[in-house]
Amino acid sequence: MIKKTVSIIGGGVSGISAALQCEIEHIDYTLIEKLHLGGMIKYANSINNVPFIDKGINGNDITTLLKKRMKDLEKNIVYNKVIDVKFKENSFYISLLSGEIFISKYLIWATGSIPVNPDFFIPKECENKIFYYPDLDVDNIDNKVIVYGGGDIAFDYALTLRKTINNISIYCRNKIKANRSLINEVVEKDIKYNELSEISKLSFKKEMIDISFKNGISIKTNYLVIAIGRKPNNELINSMIDNRKLFRIGDANNDFRQLVCASSDGIKAIMEISQRENNGC
Ligand SMILES: Cc1cc2nc3c(=O)[nH]c(=O)nc-3n(C[C@H](O)[C@H](O)[C@H](O)COP(=O)(O)OP(=O)(O)OC[C@H]3O[C@@H](n4cnc5c(N)ncnc54)[C@H](O)[C@@H]3O)c2cc1C
Repeated sequence: MIKKTVSIIGGGVSGISAALQCEIEHIDYTLIEKLHLGGMIKYANSINNVPFIDKGINGNDITTLLKKRMKDLEKNIVYNKVIDVKFKENSFYISLLSGEIFISKYLIWATGSIPVNPDFFIPKECENKIFYYPDLDVDNIDNKVIVYGGGDIAFDYALTLRKTINNISIYCRNKIKANRSLINEVVEKDIKYNELSEISKLSFKKEMIDISFKNGISIKTNYLVIAIGRKPNNELINSMIDNRKLFRIGDANNDFRQLVCASSDGIKAIMEISQRENNGC
């Protein structure tokens, strides 16, 4: 068992910001990440609301910057999935898929968000043609891709996909909710969007997904990307949400999911821990 003052779960922008602040405050910590450093930001097409980085930088470039920033801190990073968290004897017991257990006085929960599942049935044959992120490996640029959703993320995914695929359209259940800049960019890139188009049924015919909408329309597509919303990834800690030594940060805590908010959450949580430790409480 490994004992630290702070365990940070999740190596996205919020978790990385917490780790960097631990370095400044000289607090011992472990950061546990199940996949790769950087988290969700790698999917962003173009970031324009962070004042201290170049306008229009894309998510992959930010991920590269984050990985570079963490290069010298690898000794504090464990690449594995957290599968269970318990609070006993005034400490958090964090179990990993590998079987290892980490114990810490404070827990920083920086696990981001997970996609909301659709309420229509997904036939088994369609499963490998349906995605929740824009990382399709499409060999033919003329394949048809439908993005389902009307918010910023759906529009951003469509723009990312448009870089490698010609035939993208967006369908959404209600009215579009994406911000005006994204709508303008989608129109500029010749991506058609369709409002009031709620999916009622999917079937699989001749290697294509057949989508029926409640408005009576039916279309065929090679791939479907579902982006109808995201929710905080808090399942493992729901029972201890009021624990004063647990800090939920970034997208795991915020309804408005933004880089600067995620980063400031991470910094604030560690500053508070440092203050408590210095005051002996
Ligand atoms: C398409 C898109 C476009 C965006 N555009 C912008 C923009 O223009 N401007 C802006 O400010 N923000 C934008 N955002 C939002 C921004 O990316 C997020 O707010 C921010 O990256 C959230 O960081 P996070 O650390 O809270 O979560 P995440 O980045 O989701 O990181 C969570 C990490 O936790 C890990 N994890 C989860 N569960 C476990 C587990 N059980 N064990 C171990 N590790 C785990 C995940 O693998 C992941 O690496 C965009 C997001 C998307 C998806």
